[in-house]
Amino acid sequence: MTNFHDFQLNEAINRALAEEKYLTPTPIQTQTIPTVMSGRDVIGIAQTGTGKTAAFALPILHRLAANPRAPERKSCRVLVLSPTRELSGQILDSFRAYGRHLRIRGALVIGGVPMGAQFRALLNGVDVLVATPGRLLDLVKSNALRLSDVECLVLDEADRMLDMGFIHDIRKIVAKLPAQRQTLMFSATMPRAISDLAAQMLRDPVKVAVTPAASTVELVEQRVIRVDRAEKPAMLVEVLRTEKVDRALVFTRTKHGADKVVRRLVQAGIAAEAIHGNKSQGQRERVLAAFRDGKVRTLVATDIAARGIDVDGISHVVNFDVPNVAETYVHRIGRTARAGAAGVAISLCDGEEVAFIRDIEKLIRVSIPVQDRRAHPHRAEAPAAQHNSVRSSADGSDKQRHWHRNKPARKQHQHNRPRDGSIASVAFLNRNAAAQEEPQRAPRWTSHSKGS
Ligand code: AMP
Repeated sequence: MTNFHDFQLNEAINRALAEEKYLTPTPIQTQTIPTVMSGRDVIGIAQTGTGKTAAFALPILHRLAANPRAPERKSCRVLVLSPTRELSGQILDSFRAYGRHLRIRGALVIGGVPMGAQFRALLNGVDVLVATPGRLLDLVKSNALRLSDVECLVLDEADRMLDMGFIHDIRKIVAKLPAQRQTLMFSATMPRAISDLAAQMLRDPVKVAVTPAASTVELVEQRVIRVDRAEKPAMLVEVLRTEKVDRALVFTRTKHGADKVVRRLVQAGIAAEAIHGNKSQGQRERVLAAFRDGKVRTLVATDIAARGIDVDGISHVVNFDVPNVAETYVHRIGRTARAGAAGVAISLCDGEEVAFIRDIEKLIRVSIPVQDRRAHPHRAEAPAAQHNSVRSSADGSDKQRHWHRNKPARKQHQHNRPRDGSIASVAFLNRNAAAQEEPQRAPRWTSHSKGS
């Protein structure tokens, strides 16, 4: 499928796509759009940045247009559940953009803002409702909304919704939906909990997948800087000063950590803002707008807050803290290298995080080059850092190697031989011989297969 016209979508939708300057469908769109148009359930493995929103929004709009009817009062025809306020807003914006020549009524139901306007928006019913699960249930309990007319349910970023503890809310919501409906579930990863959920909620779904390894990850130039924990703030300042940064997204594990990093950057004269769950909706929107406009080039975020931030032109992702879940790393670095652009992902790794980098390398099947910037690289780690099997080896194997800048990670892998004493891969720095097995690909779907 090389052209949107091949899908035979409603002409009004094609017109909107032409105005959006969408010429070629992305792989997830090619796989998903005809299937959803045919009425089948779909489970899609795709992360943000692959075009997955249009992959479900376009055929849903087509089906709504093909079967026009005024929505019932206090009800919706299509329900999209998403984990965050930002992502929900972006999804509704996409429906509005692609459906601008159709008479589509949409509404947003998210927490953190007063309920009154949402009450009113639902009074006469809507075609498309995009919601976060908690607030949606609040409105159902308040009799502002009935879910008995839902024709199509979309669960977007299902893995993230589970991580965020929404599973019970989702089950409660699904129990209120008609059994006769179309269900589409999208997730960046496919842990057991997600496949179980899909087995319960979807009927004979078609599975579609675009693997991050084949899309975003390969476009990102990845590096690890091995540092002592206490030196991370100074190293971050150095990275942001020396790299050619257009927009940088810095990840911390905690909200408190995000605020601390921002204070440190501001002290060093680098304009930065934090975005996390403690901020009001107004603050988040203001910060995001400043980041989008380039007024603030560094945004410091926790994973949850960063979910759904859809800003193009992020040149650098910096992991101030390395995530302990490898899939989270893939989510994070997927924020750069959007729409085929090159991006840089730099992870500041202390002794306790070396094992996390190993897990990441196994998942993405790439050996990430390491620059060793510890004060005393040959000294054994402090005991607290040694509980993992990987640590700085005492046998001198952590000699440093040449850093191949500006090359894709896979190529860096191939050229990872010792050179001038400045760089190594984590594998070489920290693995003993037994740990040097070939990285294994985590189980994930790689191709389009019909049925379950
Ligand atoms: P998503 O994965 O849904 O977050 O989409 C990522 C970005 O790609 C958004 O900014 C979309 O507007 C854009 N996009 C989606 N599909 C296409 C397409 N076929 N051609 C060009 N841009 C697209």
